[in-house]
Amino acid sequence: MISTSGRGGFAALDACVHCGFCLQACPTFLATGDEADGPRGRIELMRAFERGDLPADDPGLADHLDRCLGCRGCEPVCPSGVGYGAGLEEARTRLASERGVRSLTRLALAALTNPTISWPLYAAARVLRDSGLAGKLAGEGRVGFGMGMVAATKADGRTGGRAVNIGPPDRPSAAFLFRGCVMQGLFSHVHDATIRTLTVNGFDVRETPRQVCCGALHAHAGLQDAAQSLARQNVAAFGSSTDPIVVNSAGCGAQLKAYGHVLQGDPRAEQFAERVRDVTELLVERGPRSGAALALRVAYDAPCHLLHAQRISEPPLAVLRAVPGADVHPTADSAQCCGSAGLFSTLEPELSRAVLAPKIERLLAAPPDLVTTANPGCVMQLGAGLRAARSGIPVRHPVELLDDSYAAAGFYA
Ligand code: SF4
Ligand code: SF4
Repeated sequence: MISTSGRGGFAALDACVHCGFCLQACPTFLATGDEADGPRGRIELMRAFERGDLPADDPGLADHLDRCLGCRGCEPVCPSGVGYGAGLEEARTRLASERGVRSLTRLALAALTNPTISWPLYAAARVLRDSGLAGKLAGEGRVGFGMGMVAATKADGRTGGRAVNIGPPDRPSAAFLFRGCVMQGLFSHVHDATIRTLTVNGFDVRETPRQVCCGALHAHAGLQDAAQSLARQNVAAFGSSTDPIVVNSAGCGAQLKAYGHVLQGDPRAEQFAERVRDVTELLVERGPRSGAALALRVAYDAPCHLLHAQRISEPPLAVLRAVPGADVHPTADSAQCCGSAGLFSTLEPELSRAVLAPKIERLLAAPPDLVTTANPGCVMQLGAGLRAARSGIPVRHPVELLDDSYAAAGFYA
């Protein structure tokens, strides 16, 4: 990962002048009030580790870096252009090689990304979800929250059909769908909505066999070798075409766009990264076309890996505003992490819930009809948080609302 200053690794932290402007943008600092749980304190810890003043097995170092969401909310507010994410990646990679990776992290990684283990688990989760049991058991506590996360993956609204009544297309442009792990296992309805809405907007969406996990969760855990191996497989699978690779998960998109850095020196990885587009970016290139009116108050909560890592802010709002009648607003704290952060909600459940709590409180102070966000972990985290608060507000991906609007306009059969 290269920082906005163009420097990678610990050098990306050099510009820090300890001003503390980043503290109020840091969800973990706001939750705990502990300087070592904020960016400035963590930068000091990372520098001490780099100098050798703190060993890899120092419990404070491990604890406070493990408790970082990696949301990069501290980067855009930093007047010195500190590349916090690049420094964190370097620190986690060195920590993983020197002290190893927690067994719970390895277990969670395998459960979500290793098809031999994850496909049966996803199948079981779908049974829990589709039977309604997950929704009934959703609530507070570790099990209740987990059930809420599973329940939040349920398709809400229309499903099925394919785009047909859209008039004679000009020559459609090809785009290749990145399917991912959690998205394919629990959010295939979002893939369907992605394909339909892109088709309405003049894209011919194609499938790519032999694609694998993007490697984001491995990279966040400091397992760079595994992340590189997955990146090489994806670069080979998507070939040398210049057609866009469309992604509807912010976390996957951020990682795929970073393949040039992950596989430094491989020009094919650079070319791959240049093809990657979030689905909202592609739709906005074509308008997107409007559908039928849906009178809904819609709140949009920006995923950190879309807003901070990919610097994509307007396209998801433009997609939602293409739905006539929808009253669309960002949430009051849209730029702040929901506490999901990949494996964070599993590995650090208490801090994750503490980060989520004020966001749910603010949402319920002026409840919308629908919450939207563009990352699977965020849909699950917000959905579980709302269920734990006994709220029935659904959480969905922006393309699902556009898809509903197109269905109501009669674009599908
Ligand atoms: S990271 Fe940036 S905002 Fe935070 S203390 Fe350092 S210079 Fe200031
Ligand atoms: S990445 Fe997020 S949690 Fe970590 S220090 Fe920055 S703002 Fe705080």
